[in-house]
Amino acid sequence: MRLSELWQKKQPTISLEFFPARTPEAEENLERVIDQLIFFEPDFVGVTFGAGGSTREGSRHLIDKILNDKGFDVVPYFAGYGLGPDDIEAVLESYQFLGVENVLVVRGDPPHNQPNFQPHPESMAHATDLLDFIRPLFPFCLGAAGYPEGHSEAESKEKDLEYLRMKVMKGAEFIITNYFYDNQYYFDYVERCRRLGIDVPILPSIMPVFNVKMMESLSKLCGATITPKLRAGLADLSTTDKRALLNFGIDFGFEQCKELLQAGVPGIHFYTMDRSPSTAGILAKLRREGVLPC
Ligand SMILES: Cc1cc2nc3c(=O)[nH]c(=O)nc-3n(C[C@H](O)[C@H](O)[C@H](O)COP(=O)(O)OP(=O)(O)OC[C@H]3O[C@@H](n4cnc5c(N)ncnc54)[C@H](O)[C@@H]3O)c2cc1C
Repeated sequence: MRLSELWQKKQPTISLEFFPARTPEAEENLERVIDQLIFFEPDFVGVTFGAGGSTREGSRHLIDKILNDKGFDVVPYFAGYGLGPDDIEAVLESYQFLGVENVLVVRGDPPHNQPNFQPHPESMAHATDLLDFIRPLFPFCLGAAGYPEGHSEAESKEKDLEYLRMKVMKGAEFIITNYFYDNQYYFDYVERCRRLGIDVPILPSIMPVFNVKMMESLSKLCGATITPKLRAGLADLSTTDKRALLNFGIDFGFEQCKELLQAGVPGIHFYTMDRSPSTAGILAKLRREGVLPC
């Protein structure tokens, strides 16, 4: 179903994000993780697209599996950086063929591990250009990425929001945000968006805490502040007690989701990182405590 229609019928939604596996072992693990998490009956599942088209086949395969084998709506992400117009059309045609109805359009970044990567000469500079190109060619319900703390390259938060407004004017019907560890970033962001006339649903993303090293490096990369409250909670834990860290992450994520849901967000989007215990723990607790219906 188109997300614009889904949110008219049902709020809040629960959605999960997966990335395609790159090895046979990871593929096996992912299969298990998907089966464990679809138990929670997500309203849709996001599937990432590797920088420069690096997971093109893997993304298509994963979309097909979740949509057509498991029977859950999939929102593929499409990162256009490095690809030319023919490739963009070919990827999106393959998604249309699979039965996809929604696509989250992001610019993407140069691939980290390929210093010699050569973008196609007609690679598009911004998500706004991609939306311009895709909108007249495909009937998808299109979405765009939003950054409650601002995008790392943005001249200013104001300029970043002007471009977000442009993305909506060019056809984005929903926004999925980057993750954050303090809901106030999201609340302020939504308020600033609404003041600018951006009136589409803005879906908050949650990144469960389960690995401190990974949290530090990803947060730097993605521009998500590790708040003093989060640091203080982590400082109280033994560095070798993985179970305590998992439980802390579940409680922290639960509190974030509870506050967001009580504020009336359209849904919660989980960055699962292709692991199940944290997301499953948060969802189970939300149900147990009556924040989400069983
Ligand atoms: C929910 C979510 C999902 C993601 N999924 C993926 C994925 O699957 N694969 C992947 O590779 N990456 C993914 N990303 C990361 C994303 O590709 C990067 O953050 C990238 O650096 C920016 O993408 P964007 O679509 O926001 O770019 P843009 O909207 O193009 O913005 C990039 C920068 O340019 C500025 N800008 C925007 N439009 C213009 C314009 N017209 N003129 C001048 N400046 C402009 C913005 O202020 C910003 O600073 C995701 C991000 C989010 C939040």
